[in-house]
Amino acid sequence: MPTSEVFIAARLTQVVTYDPGEIRKIELALPETWEIAGKQYAVVDQMRPGTAFLAKPFGLRTGKYRRRMYTRSNCSLTAPRRLETVINDTHQAKADTSPWWQTREVEELYERGGTIEVCLVRHEAEGQLVVYENCHQVEPHNLRLEPDEEWSTMRILALAFSTGITPFLSYLRYMQARDFGKTADRPGAQVVLVASARTPRQLIEHQALLDLAAQCPQHFRYHPVLTREWPDSWEFTTGRVIRMIPAQEGERVDLTPLFALVPDVERYHIRLCGNPTARDQLLAGLRQSGKMPLSFRAEVW
Ligand SMILES: Cc1cc2nc3c(=O)[nH]c(=O)nc-3n(C[C@H](O)[C@H](O)[C@H](O)COP(=O)(O)OP(=O)(O)OC[C@H]3O[C@@H](n4cnc5c(N)ncnc54)[C@H](O)[C@@H]3O)c2cc1C
Repeated sequence: MPTSEVFIAARLTQVVTYDPGEIRKIELALPETWEIAGKQYAVVDQMRPGTAFLAKPFGLRTGKYRRRMYTRSNCSLTAPRRLETVINDTHQAKADTSPWWQTREVEELYERGGTIEVCLVRHEAEGQLVVYENCHQVEPHNLRLEPDEEWSTMRILALAFSTGITPFLSYLRYMQARDFGKTADRPGAQVVLVASARTPRQLIEHQALLDLAAQCPQHFRYHPVLTREWPDSWEFTTGRVIRMIPAQEGERVDLTPLFALVPDVERYHIRLCGNPTARDQLLAGLRQSGKMPLSFRAEVW
């Protein structure tokens, strides 16, 4: 059956500023139905944890609305048609929409019940508009969550850099709703999340993650990491978990801080979300140390 993309207005229902001018969480709410040319369509949300939706924020540099992808941080199972994500200002020379998200204009949009366009895929015969997701298959370069019968038997080491925590927040919300895949004869999944942020303000969902770790210690461990600034009372890791150190021939990757948190990485499926440098350095460090995980998948922006 032919399908086509349509953009419809989603209400901006949440703006939470973690670090002013730097990082914000937002939520976009889609209606239950939408009319196109006199025909009513049901809005269907089947996004798999770890995938990204497509929206049209405003670009400060170009002065236009632009198509941009955002990994969803909640999940369709527990929050259907409410698309939550966390967005940072990239501070790149060509940054366009990412600084706009941090402006007062976005708060004003929220205060007056304003909207942002979100992409849906029209399935004409079914009369459905299905929320667009960026990938439909599990691949090494994306973080679409494995099928339920697979992840529920896995031990996952999730490495998150800044807003790269978004896919893992979605995994955790989904897994928690599914009791981490625990059954009478299966212990369920284990997830270790190492979440790296520059400053305490930039820690995302920190208290909720501490609470989940306390509530489900058999399924979830949380290791927050601060790399630039931390209070005296900070009891967790400080500094980068992946470090470059000078060596005789160029540089070596030092993974000692990561191995201090997870000594047995060979027993884990590693999933990474962050920048290409972090991914490449981690892979080089694992090779140099001779410790290879059960599998490796990464999404980088
Ligand atoms: C699958 C996918 C999921 C994504 N999920 C999120 C998310 O959950 N939260 C989020 O904040 N962003 C996410 N992004 C990035 C987002 O779509 C934008 O690219 C980013 O916000 C920059 O937008 P921009 O309009 O300011 O700059 P763009 O016009 O998109 O890019 C300007 C320049 O900055 C570079 N760039 C883009 N992103 C980054 C970055 N993060 N760091 C350094 N340089 C960058 C581009 O290569 C380009 O050269 C995701 C991207 C993809 C492909």
